[in-house]
Amino acid sequence: MKKLVSEKAERFTESVIRDMTRLANRYGAVNLAQGFPDFPAPEEIKQAATHAIEDNYNQYSITWGAKSLRNAIAKKYETDYELKIDPESEVTVCCGSTEAMVSAMLAVTNPGDEVIIFEPFYENYGPDSILSGATPRYVTLHAPNLNTDPQGTWHFEPGDLEAAFNDSTKAIIINTPNNPTGKVFTRAELRQIARLCQKWNALAITDEIYEHIVYDGAEHIPIATIPGMRERTITINSMSKTYSVTGWRVGYAIAAPHLTSAVRKVHDFLTVGSPAPLQEAGATALALPPSYYEKLARDYAERRDLLLGLLRQAGFKCYKPQGAYYIMTDISEFGFSNDTEFAHYLTKEIGVTAVPGSSFYHQLEYGFKQIRFAFCKILDTLQLAGERLQRLRTIKTNSTN
Ligand code: PLP
Repeated sequence: MKKLVSEKAERFTESVIRDMTRLANRYGAVNLAQGFPDFPAPEEIKQAATHAIEDNYNQYSITWGAKSLRNAIAKKYETDYELKIDPESEVTVCCGSTEAMVSAMLAVTNPGDEVIIFEPFYENYGPDSILSGATPRYVTLHAPNLNTDPQGTWHFEPGDLEAAFNDSTKAIIINTPNNPTGKVFTRAELRQIARLCQKWNALAITDEIYEHIVYDGAEHIPIATIPGMRERTITINSMSKTYSVTGWRVGYAIAAPHLTSAVRKVHDFLTVGSPAPLQEAGATALALPPSYYEKLARDYAERRDLLLGLLRQAGFKCYKPQGAYYIMTDISEFGFSNDTEFAHYLTKEIGVTAVPGSSFYHQLEYGFKQIRFAFCKILDTLQLAGERLQRLRTIKTNSTN
């Protein structure tokens, strides 16, 4: 019989992360699953949005983005990274980095093209590959051994990366600072990736939405700044995380003109444009002084340290993030058969919601022993979650007896 649902739509599930938010709401649990802040956005950008509506920025903006915002993006990249970007031909403003990523994938891949994805990965990249017809190839990010190297960082084997590239490779997706691992890719690692992209004539599509959320002296390096990569990189970014406005849906893609013109066409027919008044506020946001970003990183470091301490007290083994606002944890000692069972138990019985690790892997079982907590929350929220989680200590004791 004729199927009325596409094969593509059948090949992926609804987002597990967003599903966990619904579960948290149903059980009144503290939601440390989905990555959205529970504190307000900066006052000046809220005012800029209000003024833009009062000033009647109510109609479509130019499809590839309001001029004021594109100019602000170009200026910020020059100031922060000495990258010169032409706002007229190299920027596409999209509905969040979510749309920027899928527009980029649709713009550059053909069915049969391969796209390399580091695993564990932010869950959207799987469906993005399916929607664009590309075949994902996974390169493992190995977790540090927490017994011998508690401060260690996740890493890939250079040989694995080398082996993943071939003539069919169209692009590699990079996410640094990384969700869910907290890894910040080093210059040496980015150079290896760059060398292979150049060798195989492949693109780098890089999701850098946590660029300003880095800890302990880690440095965020956009791969577009690595020699030879400016012309073969699509840089994806967003207001969501840096300005705590995940609901505004303002993101962007930066790429050389011939790539940008393909991205712009896809974007135009997918969404026409991102909300016009919020783009105007985006121009204000991107012009905030360095002190704003310094405070952002400091505040997140405090939240990270608080949640790390609370999770460890409750019996979790934690991978310490160098960037982004998530803590991946090892749950093997709690004695549950898998991550989903544990995450549901946590929500319903303990009152705290996290994301099952399996949602970050293409083979679910790779994540059965992990769950991820978000710490983009006020300290009181983290404290409350921590108090509830302490009840787990008795469970852990029972399971290890
Ligand atoms: N990329 C990564 C790595 C994320 O973690 C998230 C949200 O959690 C997104 C993209 C979504 O960003 P946006 O709100 O800009 O669509």
